[in-house]
Amino acid sequence: MAKMKAVVKTKPTPGAELVDVDVPVPGPNDVLVKVIATSICGTDLHIYEWNKWAQNRIKKLPQIMGHELSGEVIELGTNVRHIKQGDIISAETHIACGHCYLCHTGYAHICINGSIFGVDVNGVFADYAVVPAANAWVLEEKIPKDFASVMEPLGNAVHTVLAGDIAGRTALVTGCGPIGIMSIAVSRVCGATRIIATEINEYRMQLAKKCGADLVLNPKKDSVVKRVLQETDGLGVDVVLEMSGNPSAIKQAFESLRPGGRFSILGIPDKPLEIDWGKQIIFKYITVQGINGRLMFSTWHTLSRFLSSGRLNLEPIISHRFRLEEFEKGMELMASGNCCKVLLYPQSKEKSLA
Ligand SMILES: [Zn+2]
Ligand SMILES: [Zn+2]
Repeated sequence: MAKMKAVVKTKPTPGAELVDVDVPVPGPNDVLVKVIATSICGTDLHIYEWNKWAQNRIKKLPQIMGHELSGEVIELGTNVRHIKQGDIISAETHIACGHCYLCHTGYAHICINGSIFGVDVNGVFADYAVVPAANAWVLEEKIPKDFASVMEPLGNAVHTVLAGDIAGRTALVTGCGPIGIMSIAVSRVCGATRIIATEINEYRMQLAKKCGADLVLNPKKDSVVKRVLQETDGLGVDVVLEMSGNPSAIKQAFESLRPGGRFSILGIPDKPLEIDWGKQIIFKYITVQGINGRLMFSTWHTLSRFLSSGRLNLEPIISHRFRLEEFEKGMELMASGNCCKVLLYPQSKEKSLA
């Protein structure tokens, strides 16, 4: 059996290990890819740090970590027709069953029987990975190969920004982690006329500006609601894109949203929140909307066009590149917040596949 390197969560304690494991064998409906690049998601950091969420969510160990991927297809399962060897793919990480009520009605991204790479099944922090062919997204040639690993979180940003009107609208993005930063860039491309962001990390504040925020506020120093109202003629923003999961940011966001506005939420709070429903939602007549994953696959078509047209440039969003072996450095950086997307590159040894 051929071996490969993989970053594996071996024990239910903080950390992960680089170990030799068997190269996975694709099933009839899968493809085997040689991983070109993979990027670290907040989810991976939670699993690495082994926080409460990870302890409750991860069912079985050991498991290969990671889910964001750019890979070259090197082997096809016997039933796979629409992909060929040599294709460069990204992957939708929500694995849908294809036959439940939700899959049948256009909601495959929240499939009732769904599972997720690197959370429920082995992931992609490795030299090679198996991807269900139905989840592979073949990259257009014009798009740089390693961008493919960032398409999945970019899809979260595109899904959130385009979940309602954005052209000609003012927007508040709360939280400038990687998806917050991408949401700023996407909002700009889609014609938002004033983009205000909130963030406490200096590195990310600067990056938010660089990626298109008109004003970046630091909630530790600035009085956010007051500044937002000043910036919007006392009205409040038309759209909130909540990316932080932080209770005080969420409270400020409700108070900063104009009556009749849209509140789209991707950030996940780690405990239940208290909200004044009457004041903040009902009488304000706002739309509150949870966002999960990406529409399969209309979000992917949209973000591919943004990238292949050159309208959206991911280069400033990819802040660091490391070899896979250096995953601990990447995790530390992610924990510090002094980064945006951190990419890991496996150095495959072809010989070992013989
Ligand atoms: Zn992710
Ligand atoms: Zn389903």
